[in-house]
Amino acid sequence: MAQEVPSWVSGVLVLATVGGLLWLERRRPLRRRTQDKRRRDLRNLAVAGLSAAAISRFEKPVVQPLSRWVDRERRGLLKLLRLPVWLEVPLAVVLLDYTLYVWHVLTHKVGFLWRFHQVHHADLDMDFTTATRFHFGEMILSVPWRAAQVALIGASPLSLTTWQLTTLLAILFHHSDVELPYGLERRLCRLIVTPRVHGIHHSVVRRETDSNWSTIFMWPDYLHGTDRLNVPQDEVTIGVPAFRDPEEVTLPRLVRMPFAAQPWPWTLPESDLEPERRPEALPAPVHSLAE
Ligand SMILES: [Zn+2]
Repeated sequence: MAQEVPSWVSGVLVLATVGGLLWLERRRPLRRRTQDKRRRDLRNLAVAGLSAAAISRFEKPVVQPLSRWVDRERRGLLKLLRLPVWLEVPLAVVLLDYTLYVWHVLTHKVGFLWRFHQVHHADLDMDFTTATRFHFGEMILSVPWRAAQVALIGASPLSLTTWQLTTLLAILFHHSDVELPYGLERRLCRLIVTPRVHGIHHSVVRRETDSNWSTIFMWPDYLHGTDRLNVPQDEVTIGVPAFRDPEEVTLPRLVRMPFAAQPWPWTLPESDLEPERRPEALPAPVHSLAE
C-alpha cells in the first residue's frame, strides 16, 4: 500500500475536475452572474496563489512531518486502534472532515477568524474559482488546528493526503456554478455537499450564511441541525452585505481586508430579512464608525 496519494494522481484528478467544471459552468450555469468573469477569475487566482504559498511555507513543514511521526509512533485515536488500512483511511477522512466542520464554524463565530474568512465570502459571484479564494492569513491561522487534527485523530500520510485530495475536489465541486438536475441534487445532498447547498452558505442573509458548514459529507450539518435546504437558488444573493460595492473587493482591498477597520454590523439586521432578500432592495453597505 502506498505511503501517500501520489502527486500525479492528485494532479490528474484535480485537472480533470477543473476541466469538467469549466465545461459544465458554461453549459449549465446555476446562478446569474453580476461581475465580469475574467477580472474575478484573475483576482481569485491571485488570492489563491498567495494562499498556496502560505500553505507550502507554513502548513506543509509542520503537518507532513507530524503525520509521519504519528504513523511511525502509533499516536492518535486511529493509530491506537490498530485498524486495517481499508478501514483506517476512510475513518480518518470522516473524522478530519468533521473536525474541519468545527473549524469552519469557528471561522464564522470568532470575530478575529471571521476577518480572514470573510475574504472568501466577499466574492460577489460564486463558481469553482471561489473554492481557491482564501486569504493567506486564514491558511496560516489554521496550521495549529490542522496539527491538532492530525495528532488527535492519528492521521497517517496516506489518510492525510486522501483527505486533502477529497476535500479539494469537494470544494471545487460545491462552489461550482453548475446547475445539476434538481432530482439528482436532492438525492446527492443527503450524503455530500452540493452546489445549491453551499450557495445558501454564501448568502448575504445571516441565518443562511450560518448554515451548511459541512465540506465533503453533509452529516455534520444534519447532526447539529445546521442544514438549510429550503432556499431557492435564484433567491440567494452571494456575498457579504458590508462588501457589496465591487470597489471594496479589489485585490489590494482583499489582501488588506482582515487588517482594516471592520464594518459593523457585517450583515443585515435579523429583523428585516424577509423584505430585504432581493439584491436591489439591499441597503447601502454599513461602514465602520472609525471611517
Ligand atoms: Zn464559510
